[in-house]
Parts: sequence; C-alpha cells; structure tokens
Amino acid sequence: MTATMERMYNPVTPEIIEQLRKIVGPEQVLIDEEGIEPYSHDKVVGLKADPEVVVKVNSKEQISDLFRLAQQELVPITPRGAGYGLSGGAVPVHGGIVLSVEKMNHILEIDKKNLMVTVEPGVITGDIHRAVEAEGLFYPPDPASLDSCSIGGNIAEDAGGPRAVKYGVTRGYVCGLEAVLPSGRIINCGGKLVKNVTGYNLIQLLVGSEGTLAVVTKIILRLIPLPKVQIDLLVPFDDFQSAADTVSDIIAHHIVPTTIEFMEQDSLTAVERMLKKQFPFNNAAAQLLIQLDGNRQEAVESDAEVVGSLCLQHNARDVLVAKDRPTRLRLWEARRMIIEALNLESPMNHMEDVVVPRSQIPPLLKGIKKIASEYSLRIISFGHAGDGNVHVNVLKDQTPDNQWEEIIPTVAEKIYRLTLSLGGTITGEHGIGYTRRRYLPLALDASQIELMRSIKTAFDPNHILNPSKIFP
Ligand SMILES: Cc1cc2nc3c(=O)[nH]c(=O)nc-3n(C[C@H](O)[C@H](O)[C@H](O)COP(=O)(O)OP(=O)(O)OC[C@H]3O[C@@H](n4cnc5c(N)ncnc54)[C@H](O)[C@@H]3O)c2cc1C
Repeated sequence: MTATMERMYNPVTPEIIEQLRKIVGPEQVLIDEEGIEPYSHDKVVGLKADPEVVVKVNSKEQISDLFRLAQQELVPITPRGAGYGLSGGAVPVHGGIVLSVEKMNHILEIDKKNLMVTVEPGVITGDIHRAVEAEGLFYPPDPASLDSCSIGGNIAEDAGGPRAVKYGVTRGYVCGLEAVLPSGRIINCGGKLVKNVTGYNLIQLLVGSEGTLAVVTKIILRLIPLPKVQIDLLVPFDDFQSAADTVSDIIAHHIVPTTIEFMEQDSLTAVERMLKKQFPFNNAAAQLLIQLDGNRQEAVESDAEVVGSLCLQHNARDVLVAKDRPTRLRLWEARRMIIEALNLESPMNHMEDVVVPRSQIPPLLKGIKKIASEYSLRIISFGHAGDGNVHVNVLKDQTPDNQWEEIIPTVAEKIYRLTLSLGGTITGEHGIGYTRRRYLPLALDASQIELMRSIKTAFDPNHILNPSKIFP
C-alpha cells in the first residue's frame, strides 16, 4: 500500500494489467519504461512521476469498465489529453493508471444548421479550428498551444487564449458534454441547445474541473460565423505604463479588440536569441499586439485607425499595420514562441499565470520587478494585456540548485500576495493542478474550499480520480 495525504492506494498488480488488456486490447496497454516515460510529465519544468501503467482508451464503455476495475482495486486514475498542461494536472503523482484519450480524436459532426460541432476529447484544438473555418465557421478559444493541446484538456482547464478579450474562454462555447463518472456511470449533459436551465449546470461544473470529477468523452461546442476581416497592429512603447493607459483608452472608446497582447523587451530578446533573427522595435520596453476583426472592411479599418491614433496619443513610437495573412503571421511569430524561448534561456524556470483587473497590470509588473531585484532573479513577464492575465517567468539561470529550491516557494507566494492585493487571483487559465494546490487557501476562503471538497467527494467518494490535484 502507498501512503498518501488523502487516501491509501493499491499498486497495479500483474492481475490488474491482465484485466486492463482484456478491456482495451493488449497493444493499448503500456508498461515498459520507454513506453510510459512520455506520460510521466506535462509541460511543467521539473515535475515528473511515472505511472505504473498507461491505458489508451477508445470508447466511453472502455473508460467505464476501467473505472469499475479501479474502484474495485483502489487504484488511482489520471486522465490525460495531450500533456501540454502547465500545472501538472496530467502527472500521475500517485503512480497508478494514466488514462489517455489520445485515440478518441474524431470530429464527429459539423452541424451547419445549428452552428455546433461535436468532437471527441482527444481532437487537437487547432484541427477543430481548421475544420470549422473551412465551412466559414469559427470556434474562437485559441490557447497558444492550440496545435498541440487537446479539446478535452481545454475543457478540463477551461483554457483561455489571446482572443478571450472579445470572445471569452472555453466555457462560453460548451453546450453539451458526455462524461464517465468515477463510479463508471455515463452521463449526458446538455446538447445542441443555446438555452438550458434544467437543474444545476453540471456542464459548467465539469468545465475547469481539471480532470478531478469525471472523464469527458464527447463535447458539443457552439460556433459563430467566421469574421471576414482581420487587421493586426504591432505597437512599441518606451514604458509599460503608456501601453497600459492605451489599453484602457481603447476600451473606453468602446472598441473591444479581438486580442491585446503584451511582450516585455526581455521576452522578445529571448525569442531573437532562439530564432537567431531580429524583430522590429526590439529596443522598445514593451510592445502591444492588437488584433481587430469584423465582417465589414471599412468598419474594421475605421476601428484600426482610431486604435492607431490612440496609441500615438499615448506616446507609441510607431504603429505597424498588417492586413494580409503572411504579414499578420510574421507579427505574431515572436509572441507565439516566447515560452519555448524562455525554456531555452533557462531550462529550469518557474511560470506563474496570475490575473488582475486589466487596469492593475502596471502596479503588478512594478511589484514583480521589485521581487526580482530583491532575490537577484531574472523575471520576464508577457501575456494578455486585454484581460489582465500575466504570465510571469522566473528564470533560474545560474542560481545554485539548493538556493533555487529554497526561494521559489517564497517568490511564488510573494507574487500571489501581490496579485491578490490588486484584486486578482492566482491562476487565469493554467489551473491549480498539482503545482499551485498548496497556495489555494491564499485565494479561496475555508468555506469555499470545504464546499469544493464535498463536491469532489460526491463525484468520487474514494478519490481515485486524479488525486492530490487542486486541493492542498
Ligand atoms: C507553449 C504553451 C502555450 C500555452 N498557451 C496557453 C494559452 O494561451 N491558454 C491556456 O489556457 N493554456 C495554455 N497552455 C496550457 C495548456 O496548453 C492548456 O492547459 C491545455 O488546455 C492543456 O490541454 P492538454 O490536452 O495538453 O491537457 P493535459 O495536459 O493532457 O491535461 C490537462 C488536465 O486536463 C485533464 N484532462 C485531459 N483530458 C481530459 C478529459 N478528456 N476528461 C477529463 N479531464 C481531462 C488532465 O487530467 C489534466 O488535469 C499552454 C501550454 C504551453 C506548453
């Protein structure tokens, strides 16, 4: 028996492996070291735990059988999409079974009459984008990892992305879910319905539940018509305050851009070093990347003109405009590569995902710089200026290992306390998962945590599904 904080679990025995082979077929069960290694981590640097077995499922019935076996044997199950998470949610910290939905990767239907798409959870999000866009339709949520992450993972994390400013996050598009509960029972919530107030909203409870309540097996997503026109602006500033004032002023003028991203100079420098090329305005302290979209060329162009002149009024150095796709992709290249570039700069690093009201980004960045100098660390921030979600990257660089291990929890806590003091919270889109669970009580009071724990227990009395996630 393995002792854990929350429950005692049994090891996966050869008899259990045999049963698993019967459920999914022998070739879908991995136990060799090489086979299970890719399933021992997500994209959190430095967090790794081997599963005892990996099971690749094909259907809800297989998942149901798997749960029944796991309940009987008291073995933990960790669901996994594509493993691109940034909070350790898919890492099997108690060993046991990793349940991979990677083979459930079919787009089942694009319903043009109801503007809905029905998909399996293992579909890569970017494939949904491409499939519906080919029909003139649009699924707006766009995590920067969209060509690698799965829609099931997006549901579990309530993934956001740059377009959240105008179009909101994943949860706003989920109309129906099929899921398997830890008991093995299968539930069907919602459907192709734009309105639905029948009982508690279990769909919205499952969205963002980080794989701790059920395994999602089918998803119905709402679509909208694909906007016909897009214009992107790249705008350099000499200080972040001017960039932030510009963002507030754009919104005050009742223009809601599709995206308003920001990059500090250090993040751009890191991408330049990685790609061995230079980007425009690389000596500006901060850059905004603003996208506008709509259906009428004149309307979008007129908004772009207003936004451009507001930028210049707030001392922007210049405004670079991209109307065609190749130029737009070039403007976005640096922004999309920042996480990879920072990983290359310092393979050991620590990433936070705090969110504040958008007007509070300047004091947040100022406070973070103070923390960086207090601990002699390089901290590089970038993210979503339009919705207040800032990705804060603490780089280890040459800090000795023992010092790094010691200071990171303190630095993280300081960043969280600063964020909370500005009316924000500790994660905007990456989730609590394993890495932030000890800090949950900083952000939520005891009554809320107790209520959430009782919801977890109602779904999963034996805590066999993704244990030691979210809760401290
Ligand atoms: C370079 C990079 C950029 C990123 N950019 C963004 C961004 O802009 N916005 C954003 O929100 N996130 C971003 N992320 C984080 C990540 O891509 C998202 O959290 C994504 O939703 C994870 O999906 P996944 O399929 O990789 O999930 P995984 O990592 O496999 O799993 C994540 C969680 O979902 C659970 N899960 C997976 N599938 C299911 C299922 N079918 N049923 C129940 N639970 C399930 C797992 O148990 C785990 O808790 C980024 C990550 C990287 C590495």
